[in-house]
Amino acid sequence: MLNKLREKIITEAQVFGEIVKIDHFLNHQIDTQLLDEVGVDIAKEFPNATKILTIETSGIAFASSVARTLDYLPLVFAKKVESSITTGEYYLSKTYSFTKKREYSVRVDKRFISENDKVLIVDDFLANGEAASSLIDIVNQAGAEVVGIGIVVEKGFQKGRKVLEEKGHKVYSCSIIERVENGQVYMK
Ligand code: 5GP
Repeated sequence: MLNKLREKIITEAQVFGEIVKIDHFLNHQIDTQLLDEVGVDIAKEFPNATKILTIETSGIAFASSVARTLDYLPLVFAKKVESSITTGEYYLSKTYSFTKKREYSVRVDKRFISENDKVLIVDDFLANGEAASSLIDIVNQAGAEVVGIGIVVEKGFQKGRKVLEEKGHKVYSCSIIERVENGQVYMK
């Protein structure tokens, strides 16, 4: 757990229903000191990873921080696709956006994940586990191994952790929001 992140969420987060907004240090403007600390915090849990996988857009900076900490591992980010592609050059997976409330697909070029890879999945938020599940699906399609899932902010009141742990994966989060109530966040 990262204390600085925990404190910042308690004092600075805005809450809209189940959506937690921290775009002044994580999702739009980035606190780059915190970025480095997140990289170290997640990296120490998954020393055996050989590749980092995330999903555009907000996950990329944090995944890059983890990748640099793990001796400059390659970082791949899944791209969002609006239309269907069937070229066979990509691993494709459908997912559902919690914030946008709609389905979309993500793709990763087949050249960038191979069956020898031990893949650490990194994302900014964990809610219902949809984004992480689609990345797991892509790693499985490639015949590679998922070493775990590293998350910056987990919303513990949603089912994401359960979904991912039931698939047999280790989940590590730098911070966990236990509940939100009347616009206030309560951390674990
Ligand atoms: P999940 O796929 O686990 O349901 O949701 C995680 C994804 O949705 C993350 O990639 C993140 O971009 C977005 N997300 C989910 N909940 C929140 C939230 O409360 N705040 C923000 N900023 N993004 C969220």
